[in-house]
Amino acid sequence: MQPKINRGVMHKIIFLDEFHEVDLKPSDAFQRFLDLTERSILDFFPNNSLQECSCPACGSQETLSQFIKFGFRYLECASCSTLYVSPRPSESAIIRYFTESKAEHFWRDEFIQMTADQRNKKIFLPRLQWIEESILEYFPQAISLADAYTKQPLYLEKLVNAKPFSQKVLLQSFLSQEILQTYPEIKLIMGGISQWKEVKIDVILLFDGIGFAPDVRSLFQTVSNMLPPGGLCFLTTTLSSGFDLQVLWDKSRNIIPPLRLNLFSEAGLLQLINQTGFECIEFSTPGILDVEIVTKAIQSKVSTDFSRFVSYLIKHKDEKTHRLFQEFLQASRLSSYGRLLLRKPR
Ligand SMILES: [Zn+2]
Repeated sequence: MQPKINRGVMHKIIFLDEFHEVDLKPSDAFQRFLDLTERSILDFFPNNSLQECSCPACGSQETLSQFIKFGFRYLECASCSTLYVSPRPSESAIIRYFTESKAEHFWRDEFIQMTADQRNKKIFLPRLQWIEESILEYFPQAISLADAYTKQPLYLEKLVNAKPFSQKVLLQSFLSQEILQTYPEIKLIMGGISQWKEVKIDVILLFDGIGFAPDVRSLFQTVSNMLPPGGLCFLTTTLSSGFDLQVLWDKSRNIIPPLRLNLFSEAGLLQLINQTGFECIEFSTPGILDVEIVTKAIQSKVSTDFSRFVSYLIKHKDEKTHRLFQEFLQASRLSSYGRLLLRKPR
């Protein structure tokens, strides 16, 4: 089955990535988050604890280019163009970082509060609408829903009311016990993916999760084992094949370790999904910010070596052309914000 590629465009859904969204509001707070991230990394991931890995999408060990961000080495796969960190931290170190680091606490306790209304309107509500509509279309009898790696109290508030589910589960939430205890109706499965295996769930949400999971192949296999035939997995991620990432590359403010250890290319992610046996029933890139992010980067002169075409497009073409170009990126799966709906075959 060919995945639908233009659903986001057809439905005119404004669907933002949580971290992309900050580019709409460049702020001291975002810079503070980046500074805290850089410092937290030193505390949580000593160099001698990291492990080398091959491409998380296709397994190739050949690389094309590399750069260092906050002490982590990013490699570009020569075969599928996925951008990934190697050597990388273990799953337990990642869990500890997202649960305890100052950077993450700042993000959810302070930064998110500053943009709560926008987040509800532009991220959480469209996300829940996407889930509800897709469930009606593909799996109306679903009753159980699991959200993996829940990080935000605001999102959890919305999730508890998600329809049509009567059972809800959190898989390795990074929220504090205090917050989690206020939702006694939600079952908690803590620990790494080895702890999830026994759980059976109709629908699993993996928003941003494949970006920081140290072993995405195992993650997909675990998710597949948890789902019944016809079960669904919704996921979103940042793609290295997207326009702003391709143009800005190491200068992109959206390459943030350890949140983004894996920036799959469209081609690499499709290859991995095919190998894990899922049907990909939707793969769209409904991002709306690529052109705007590149425009801002050119205006603030983060680099002087943008391609002639990109510089010309941004400097000399009008807003209408920029909008048409963004629509072309969406329709061609060339925006950096990707969302996918996977189904376990019946
Ligand atoms: Zn690869």
